[in-house]
Amino acid sequence: MTVGDMDKVEIFDTDGKGRGLKAKQDLLTGDVVFAEPAYAAVVFDNLVYEVCHSCFKKQAKLQRCGQCKFAHYCDRTCQKAAWTEHKNECLAIRNYGQPTNETVRLASRILWRMAREGDNVSEDRLSSLADLQDHVDDLSEEEKRQLMSDVEVLHKYWRSNDQRFDSQSISHIFGVINCNGFTISDQRGLQAVGVGLFPNLCLVNHDCWPNCTVILNNGNRSAVNSMFHTQMRIELRAIQKIKAGEELTVSYVDFLKLSAERRSQLKKHYYFDCTCEHCTKGIKDDLMQAVKEEDGKKPSGETVKEVIEFSKMTLEKIDKDRSEGLWSNVVKLCRDCLKKQEPVLADTNLYQLKILSLASEVLSYLQHFEEAAGYAKRMTMRCQTEMELRMFKENEFLYYQMREAALKNQKIQMMAEPAGEYVKELFHRRK
Ligand SMILES: [Zn+2]
Ligand SMILES: [Zn+2]
Ligand SMILES: [Zn+2]
Repeated sequence: MTVGDMDKVEIFDTDGKGRGLKAKQDLLTGDVVFAEPAYAAVVFDNLVYEVCHSCFKKQAKLQRCGQCKFAHYCDRTCQKAAWTEHKNECLAIRNYGQPTNETVRLASRILWRMAREGDNVSEDRLSSLADLQDHVDDLSEEEKRQLMSDVEVLHKYWRSNDQRFDSQSISHIFGVINCNGFTISDQRGLQAVGVGLFPNLCLVNHDCWPNCTVILNNGNRSAVNSMFHTQMRIELRAIQKIKAGEELTVSYVDFLKLSAERRSQLKKHYYFDCTCEHCTKGIKDDLMQAVKEEDGKKPSGETVKEVIEFSKMTLEKIDKDRSEGLWSNVVKLCRDCLKKQEPVLADTNLYQLKILSLASEVLSYLQHFEEAAGYAKRMTMRCQTEMELRMFKENEFLYYQMREAALKNQKIQMMAEPAGEYVKELFHRRK
């Protein structure tokens, strides 16, 4: 696989969803459909001093750019690698007197790159940025006001007389970022540290029963020498067999939701009414609410209600403990909750799936791989494939380290803990 290679896909006009991507060849589960480097990416405002602006690694000691004193890097190598991207920004920050918010910084980086390279379709870019959807007309009044104010700041900060970029084309870029800005996580793969734009990924439409998933591949960030830090990229991976000619889809929202909830979230954040088969027919809604049935006997409505309430409460507690990094508490909460759920809820029940996926995620970080795998195995409805891909493909380096340690029968180095924040949506939502 070569990063940027788009050989396996082609762009086409869907029926009613605008443009989309389809497979040009048969694909197998786990296959990388394409890998795409970020067109532009920036570190979140609140992490600018903690995360390298070049490789997005989070670490304690960073060196700052001597000129703008804003950009921070692991070392000279990272700084050099980022100079083309930072050069204009560095000057803009000095002229403007201060850095701007992350959205304006990202839009500026995109515009500088467009000015530098032009905006043409090529072998590794299937659409120009100008042709991507922006949904500017669908924005709420408040979103529109925010956009106008960002455009105004950008004009002062960017200070370009380039005739190619008028207010309308600048608004367009903000619109694209708003609906397709992709959350970038740090080298551990769990804490959101920035936002970037991947133009080819923007072409992949949503489906509530998708055939692909997106994985952010940070490259080998564990390398001591940043020379070996590879460029960050996303990978689109097949989570089932796909035939040549089939449309490629991903889920923009958390999969573990009932269709009504998914649809309202999609409408609110992505401005469309989902017409996928699962939404129109409400497929799996019944499975996601199913209760345990043994010898034709079901638990009473009262018991089910009690367990659901208990599960909701547990999920709230887990969110809290997670944000404080209390991992053993999270595991205990999961185990206790599963004990309550098991005799009452079906394996396909939404609340049981949520707890199972949390348990296997956290346990794998605590290196209880066997128990983690046991929970992962119980996750029906495709979650397992997705979880396995996430656990093992997101960080292949870690996977090999794990395997090696297992072969030598030794404990592997302590992994960093999962972050307090769990990224539930595919694209970045502005707070
Ligand atoms: Zn770095
Ligand atoms: Zn600088
Ligand atoms: Zn749907």
